[in-house]
Amino acid sequence: MRLVKLIANLGYGSRKEVAWMFREGRITDPAGEVLYADDKVEHAQIHIDGEPLDPPGGMLLMMHKPLGVTCSRKDPGRVVYDLLPPRYRQRSPALSTVGRLDRDTSGLLLITDDGALLHRIISPRANVTKVYEATLAQDLRGDEQALFASGTLMLESETTPLLPAKLEVLAPRHVRLSIGEGRYHQVRRMFAATGNNVETLARTAIGQLQLQGVQPGGWRQLGADEIGRIF
Ligand code: URA
Repeated sequence: MRLVKLIANLGYGSRKEVAWMFREGRITDPAGEVLYADDKVEHAQIHIDGEPLDPPGGMLLMMHKPLGVTCSRKDPGRVVYDLLPPRYRQRSPALSTVGRLDRDTSGLLLITDDGALLHRIISPRANVTKVYEATLAQDLRGDEQALFASGTLMLESETTPLLPAKLEVLAPRHVRLSIGEGRYHQVRRMFAATGNNVETLARTAIGQLQLQGVQPGGWRQLGADEIGRIF
């Protein structure tokens, strides 16, 4: 791919703007030698204004989603994409969240520009476990573990029962729940079905991949070894 197109696709500007950046000598190698649009150079050798070029396509990001932001692109309020560098919004292919967390849910959110990987993670066939910690408005009534594990729980307005889920009781109003599916508001609706209410909800893991090394609102790129922990 020509350098102008490569850099424009990473969101640094239109092709015209990137062509100007070359003319202005803003695009260099790591030693500061000016690069030209026709040069053949490796991605890692390209710097813009002295900073390494953003990673190429095929990124998977781990974000610690804070409360109060949504995963929807269309929301007029604060969205998770606002927590990334502004030019990440202009990347092509675009970045998307891997599934969604509610505005009032915090924790591990994956974001990728790799459509095949996204579908592999969310595919019901992959049955990737999502782990949540919740605090509840009322004490557990006692039969929730068996009910969630039974594979018979039917949520309101659904036509198929939920797959078996694992509930660990940490305290009478504090639980860890592992689910393989990702139905709409699933965790909140599961507890609503038992007459309870979720007060706080946080996702702590996807597969064996734990939320680690990122503060609320922060994010980092995952390496291949970490991607392997999802499946
Ligand atoms: N289940 C929910 O109810 N909300 C989430 O954000 C995720 C799972």
